[in-house]
Amino acid sequence: MNEALTSIKGVGPGRERQLHKLGITSVNNLLTYFPRSYEDRRKIYTVRDLLADMTGGVVGIVMAVQEKRPRPRLSILEITITDNSGSLKIVLFNQGYKKNFYKVGQRLYVYGKVDVQYGSKQMNSPQIETLGANAMPDTGIVPIYPLVDGVSQFVVRSSIRNWFTAHCELDEILPSSIVKKHMIMSRYDAFKAMHFPDSSNHYEEARHQLAYEELFVMQSGLALLRNKEQVHLGPKMGHDGVLMSRCIENLPYKLTGDQRRAIDEISKDMQDERPMQRLLQGDVGAGKTVVAILSMVKAIENGYQAVIMAPTEILAAQHYEGIQDMCKHLPIRIALLTGSTTKKEKDRIYKELKDGCIQMIIGTHALIQDKVDFYNLGLVIIDEQHRFGVEQRAALQRKGGHPHVLIMTATPIPRTMTLSVYGDLAVSLIKEMPPGRKPVKTYVVDSSYKERLRVFFGKEMAAGHQVYVVCPLVEESEKLDLQAAEALYLELKEYFYQSFEVGLVHGRMSARDKEEVMERFSKGTIQLLVSTTVVEVGVNVPNATIMCIEGAERFGLSQLHQLRGRVGRGDVQAYCVLVSDSKGDVSRERLQLMESTQDGFELAEQDLLMRGSGQLFGLAQSGLPDLRVANIVKDIDILVAARNDVLQYISEEGITNLEKEMKPELEKRFGEKFLRILYN
Ligand code: ADP
Ligand code: MG
Repeated sequence: MNEALTSIKGVGPGRERQLHKLGITSVNNLLTYFPRSYEDRRKIYTVRDLLADMTGGVVGIVMAVQEKRPRPRLSILEITITDNSGSLKIVLFNQGYKKNFYKVGQRLYVYGKVDVQYGSKQMNSPQIETLGANAMPDTGIVPIYPLVDGVSQFVVRSSIRNWFTAHCELDEILPSSIVKKHMIMSRYDAFKAMHFPDSSNHYEEARHQLAYEELFVMQSGLALLRNKEQVHLGPKMGHDGVLMSRCIENLPYKLTGDQRRAIDEISKDMQDERPMQRLLQGDVGAGKTVVAILSMVKAIENGYQAVIMAPTEILAAQHYEGIQDMCKHLPIRIALLTGSTTKKEKDRIYKELKDGCIQMIIGTHALIQDKVDFYNLGLVIIDEQHRFGVEQRAALQRKGGHPHVLIMTATPIPRTMTLSVYGDLAVSLIKEMPPGRKPVKTYVVDSSYKERLRVFFGKEMAAGHQVYVVCPLVEESEKLDLQAAEALYLELKEYFYQSFEVGLVHGRMSARDKEEVMERFSKGTIQLLVSTTVVEVGVNVPNATIMCIEGAERFGLSQLHQLRGRVGRGDVQAYCVLVSDSKGDVSRERLQLMESTQDGFELAEQDLLMRGSGQLFGLAQSGLPDLRVANIVKDIDILVAARNDVLQYISEEGITNLEKEMKPELEKRFGEKFLRILYN
């Protein structure tokens, strides 16, 4: 599959350039450029056979081409075609530039939905292909590819078809025992069926097979990665000691059962010589930080250093303050390292980390700089993991021999999904909230409540509390987003003029400016904060009691839940107001779910059902390969099967064989970043 595109019959430099526009630069790219849909053209109709509302295709000759402009900025192109049985009008909207493309006498194949208006038949925006004098259109089940301007279906389709005509084989990429056992068709047939299926069943079989293949590759990669971690011996620690119990005694509260259990699980892992790889999941506000701190204290009392990396400076600073407070009775030397640490201070920290004086360090990406070197790093903790990629995580890990690793996340991920993204990572779960936490009262309202809401904001602020107002993503454009947020900010600023300070934070601000505004909000010099969706994950402002989200229907439930978690962290009643003018039943139902539950997992699962996995975590950031065929949500059964087969293969034939067999494909799919982690 590594041949040049021009080795395909019919593909010269011109077509090659067109294919490049689609990002297709090799035969491999071309074969994996899968259709976005299919058209059933097994039958070519006559115009007479076309009935209202049916979808089908006819071949006809252009009789007339006419452009109409009923309104400024609306152009309607009408093309009339006929065959022996009647005539059909084709209507194209705002494609006036195609006026000279279609000519009287030309033969066209059109495929689309039939509309009958006052007895005459028409198709609105159908698929159109121009045909030579005697040529017939592609028949059968025809693939429709995602395209860009200047590239036709024909070019993609015929290039792919010609490749298949000239070849009769594709090398299998999975180990032959797996192929023998699991593959119904050859790899060649499966690929061909993805492009040119004989029937819908045929397509489904091919898709299933290629999804399996894809997931097998992914799971092999994860297994190798895991193996690499596990063959090394990590820092084996002793039982919980005196520092830990002193730290627990000094807590201003009692640990919850779930926190206790998570700490036990982590402790046990750290007492093993295999390095820990554990995910700590817990809803926003569930109290993950104290679990992290106690784990660090354990590492320290065993003579190791511990590090926690947070995605932003504010978060790191907040952790630092909290940790200092919690450890003030303990003889532990703690430091904070971020981008804004002064050069002098940095140099001191580098030195003291290296000679082991600093035992615990909190920081941001600054921690993965080359200059950072540890004396004996025993535990690495990553907070809000979804903000970091695989590589950043690995970079921090490499600072130690083979330290224990704890990853913390507030994004509730159903168990089956963690399998796919993290492979075998062990999971500790904090479901129980600290006692006395009042559920955030949640209301769904429409924009007619605007005035009442402002009065409500004013009242809460007068009582000394603070308010978040989040603006939605408008039209998926960051620029419009910003305009909407700025407009709202100015309105609120004027409304609360002289009584309260209103601030604005948005995605286009520099990280530093953002942090500065957040800092002022967190210190209470700003009482009302308007933001686009950048409110930093995990920032703790216990004094904030209202989270108001505009255009709430545009957010995923998990996202709404995360935002809601910004309030209700103190002991006074907090409120979440979801403003939405959406009339749809589905969006109403979704939002009402927010009113009725505070359970992040339940909301995440609903999200998965309703919106798919994209909402849940940035797969793009994870460093894992794109899935072209498989869908992690729908194909969870295939995923589990592929994973079990990988494990079985390893137990029967050994990991070295798996690596040997899969290496070329892993290189191709996982890309360099991942491999650097695997083979460095
Ligand atoms: P998250 O899981 O979102 O990181 P935090 O660790 O920031 O949550 O904890 C949220 C708040 O709950 C903090 O103010 C913390 O002091 C408090 N907290 C944590 N554990 C308990 C507990 N067992 N009892 C009472 N309050 C707790
Ligand atoms: Mg946190």
